[in-house]
Amino acid sequence: MLISGCAGALYRNPETTSANGIESSVSQQKKIYAVRNVNIIPMTIENNVLENATILIENGKIASINKAVPEDVDIIEGKGKWLIPGLIDMHVHNMADIDFSSSHPTKGVNLFTDDQDFMLLYIANGVTTAFELEGRVEHFGQRNAIARGSVIGPRIALAYLVDGGDSGNVANTPSDGRQTVRIAKAQGYEFIKVYSHLNIETYKAIIDEANKQEMKVIGHIPNIFKGRTKEAFVPHFDMVAHAEEFSSQTDIYTYKEAQRLAKMAKDNGTWVTPNLSNLVKVAEQARSLDGILHSPNFKYVHPLMQSKWITSNQYNRGTNVERIAYFDKLVDFHVTLVKAFIEADVPMVAGTDAGTSGIIWGFSLHDELELLVEAGLTPEQALASASRLPATWLEIGDKIGTVEVGKYADLILLDANPLDNISNTRKISGVFVNGRWVSKEKIDVMLADLAAKNNLNKDRYDWAKRREYEQR
Ligand SMILES: [Zn+2]
Repeated sequence: MLISGCAGALYRNPETTSANGIESSVSQQKKIYAVRNVNIIPMTIENNVLENATILIENGKIASINKAVPEDVDIIEGKGKWLIPGLIDMHVHNMADIDFSSSHPTKGVNLFTDDQDFMLLYIANGVTTAFELEGRVEHFGQRNAIARGSVIGPRIALAYLVDGGDSGNVANTPSDGRQTVRIAKAQGYEFIKVYSHLNIETYKAIIDEANKQEMKVIGHIPNIFKGRTKEAFVPHFDMVAHAEEFSSQTDIYTYKEAQRLAKMAKDNGTWVTPNLSNLVKVAEQARSLDGILHSPNFKYVHPLMQSKWITSNQYNRGTNVERIAYFDKLVDFHVTLVKAFIEADVPMVAGTDAGTSGIIWGFSLHDELELLVEAGLTPEQALASASRLPATWLEIGDKIGTVEVGKYADLILLDANPLDNISNTRKISGVFVNGRWVSKEKIDVMLADLAAKNNLNKDRYDWAKRREYEQR
């Protein structure tokens, strides 16, 4: 049966106002698919492209490449197309059920997220793994819904954020820092995120305890290290979450300074998520919100977040020429930093900070890949930064991140070669999510339905009134 171009059964009920209606994971995962005549870009270290290959997908995994194909499998024609690993966004903030109001016992949340509507943004863009950097209990439920198969969405890694100060998840002494890490571990978080207001001793204790608990650490360089940045690079500080963490540590925006900072990361074995798109969007929003309003993808953003980004935009409100000039300088210096990271051979991974103002989940990862290439990475290096390398950092490199037999079938079928032009990662013909095929036609139907639903609901959501929603 030839199913490429067929809408399939993923979206079953066009009457519903939700993009839900997923074929059960059991029936989906029983299906065997073969993509034939396809050019495979495996994204292994050697990355030898296999032309006109046939790949068999069975039980959610890559069963074989260029072996005999059993009868009665679903054939997807891959002629003239390119197959790459599903993409990984290493810095996201996901919408999930949340309580904005002052709670009372038994109340629960006051805003529900339709997880399928939300996760569609990732799937539509071939993002099959995401790293949530401000995990909370609701994200576990969301992840369970995906694991159960009732929602089709990416694999999700969860980091627990620890900051200093007096509100939120805070620790202001080394012993509190250690205990926070142990509790996070016991609750099921896999990673620790350190944040800007930690004091030096607590920061160091958190990182030391995280290592004892076998949790990797990602995060900000706390502000207190300005002028003594090198001291922040302690063993097991595994990833800096933004290029901005380096630019906030200095007032000298030269290549020489970028080299000095890059050496600190290199010497400590610390990786970097440059997150270039964030500051580009910040600078754009400081000028005007027209870019957001006219983005063709804004209609897919939940109406509450549309309202927030327009009516409560922290970059645009009270903006002035000095602020814009400062953001522009950061945008330029971050490119300089990436060049220094390349020269120093500091591993870089792609992350977007999706969920912050103007950064749309899923779509933004393609922006980030383009910016990384503009900054000096080759298209192949940029692709590695969103596939093999983050899978390695997350310690799931044996499961995802490359197209190899035995790995989970998280794959994107593209209409053009991304090694020629990184923008071709946007030319999606279909996506395999844990072995489930979602065609471009299916994606388009679901996106159109989501846009219509958001449009219908847009007057129901007002960021300023989020505390007043009363669900029960
Ligand atoms: Zn973030």
